Amino acid sequence: MVKLNLVGDLHTHTVASGHGYSTVMEIAQVAKRKKLEVVAITDHSPLMPGGPPPIYFEARGHFPQEIEGIKIYFGAEVDIVDEEGNLALGDKLLRKLDIVIVSFHPQVFPPTSRDINTQALLRAIENPLVDIIAHPGNPRYPLNYEKVVEGAVNRGKVIEINNSSFAVSRRGSEENCRLIAQEVKRQGGWVVVSSDAHFCEEVGEFREAQNLLEEIDFPPHRVLNSTKGNVEQFLNRKGGKR
Ligand SMILES: [Zn+2]
Ligand SMILES: [Zn+2]
Repeated sequence: MVKLNLVGDLHTHTVASGHGYSTVMEIAQVAKRKKLEVVAITDHSPLMPGGPPPIYFEARGHFPQEIEGIKIYFGAEVDIVDEEGNLALGDKLLRKLDIVIVSFHPQVFPPTSRDINTQALLRAIENPLVDIIAHPGNPRYPLNYEKVVEGAVNRGKVIEINNSSFAVSRRGSEENCRLIAQEVKRQGGWVVVSSDAHFCEEVGEFREAQNLLEEIDFPPHRVLNSTKGNVEQFLNRKGGKR
């Protein structure tokens, strides 16, 4: 069984999310203590209750590129809002972000049928500014995993294995995540392991998701956050799209 080494956490929330409990500085400090090299701050979109207003995502210029030697990416976890795959932030704002994660939350997109969820997600990832699909294993949103993974592979998107889905949120995700990871492995795609931290001490907590990937012998070179170089290369590719 190959051991995974993870050097970055690309899905974390600050107080700006409305139900996050730490600051950017606290997240960076924990990342440093846990020997991570890269962190992305990905607060919720304005449509989530208590979420930040759109202007929050405008201020990239004020945001540090690095804190205490940790590379910091400024991004968002953007809600899919409808069956057409429209997103809660417009392209003009998405273009200002270093990293864009998309996901479903019941507060914004009430779960519907497997076909409609799948269609909404596939349309959302047609947007070239989207990088990562977050927590697709959520049992409240049944998806056609084969089609979703195929869409992600064709469009160069990364599929997240979300560690809090095994610990605190979205109960019942684990078996779905296993199926998704196996499908990504089969189709030769990419995954990223993220904490989805809402409190700083959760940053870099990957154990359950990491175990799952190790158990299915997922190829480490297809895990985005297994090297800083992977992450930089993947996110820098967007330079051409802006
Ligand atoms: Zn949240
Ligand atoms: Zn999140």
